[in-house]
Amino acid sequence: MILTNLTRQKLIDDLLTLNEKAFRSTQLFEWVYKQQVFDWEKMTNISKTTLEVLKNQYQLPHLKVETIQQSSDGTKKYLFELTDGNFIEAVLMHYNYGESVCISTQVGCNMGCAFCASGLNKKKRNLEVWEMVMQVVQIDHALKEEGKRLSHVVIMGIGEPFDNYDNVIDFIQIINDGKGLGIGARHITVSTCGIVPKIKCFSDLPLQVNLAISLHFANDTLRSQYMPINRSYPLSELLPTLEQYYQKTNRRITFEYILIADINDSASQARDLLQLVKPFNSYVNLIPMNETGGVFKRSSRERMNHFFNVLAENGINVTLRREQGHDIDAACGQLRIKREEKNDRNHHQSD
Ligand code: SAH
Repeated sequence: MILTNLTRQKLIDDLLTLNEKAFRSTQLFEWVYKQQVFDWEKMTNISKTTLEVLKNQYQLPHLKVETIQQSSDGTKKYLFELTDGNFIEAVLMHYNYGESVCISTQVGCNMGCAFCASGLNKKKRNLEVWEMVMQVVQIDHALKEEGKRLSHVVIMGIGEPFDNYDNVIDFIQIINDGKGLGIGARHITVSTCGIVPKIKCFSDLPLQVNLAISLHFANDTLRSQYMPINRSYPLSELLPTLEQYYQKTNRRITFEYILIADINDSASQARDLLQLVKPFNSYVNLIPMNETGGVFKRSSRERMNHFFNVLAENGINVTLRREQGHDIDAACGQLRIKREEKNDRNHHQSD
């Protein structure tokens, strides 16, 4: 069994089946997540005989770091190779409020958003809990060696987190656990394209984790055209669900809106967005489109500023996201696609 797949409660349940005491879960969480010691022999407060039992029961695998690309602005992109040969990405970003990592939840993605590089490769599989946990642990460990620590986690990399819901929730519980990494719930953000039934489940989660919605279009016609999820869960279902979510949790919602030239960036579309977000106590995060080689282009600086002003002048909490990692293919999925193309090329060459 892989230890880092288990929330502390699941670990306790498993330890009890081994006739071990529940407090071992605390010891193990402290060693693995706080001290980041993965060598059983170094877990000095556990007796040799108990260590034998634990060693036989649990594995502590690492992800293989394939490459790390560093941008001139300090953003680092990690490409990890999984044990089955698939690749995933995580991006470490430096902000004035701390170090933030953006992690992946699936190999590929099935949501099919037209403008997104991640969706170019269909979902191969969900990530296991440990594969998400170790993106965070390994990057936190590298930061500690530089005397820094990870403070924020955003679940916005490759994949749709709510299409891998149970694993993502266990992952959140593990990184939030005070006996381990102790990343504050308010410092964790999960982003979804709008899987309504899972947003309902998420509103019952007793943690103050932030929810971000990839909105991008303020009307159904365009949203359905570019984001297939909207054909299943149109705005007429998504928005009332978000209102209920807000009433239940009192947690502020973030709306993400990519600015795509001549598609969703006009002044009248800014006013439509304004009407849509007004009833919510929300943040709007405007994102300059990362051009990934397709037909979609980034809005001009002028149009982005104008769009921003329509919202800001009407009292909406709005930010225009600072661009990071432009020189390192930081748009989700780009690095992984390149690496897989390399595999394909090698594959074809040897055919
Ligand atoms: N599936 C989840 C999380 C992964 S996508 C979701 O949809 O929220 C992470 C964010 O990047 C989403 O807001 C997504 O819409 C956005 N994104 C996708 N393609 C992009 C691009 N080319 N440029 C900028 N942001 C993009």
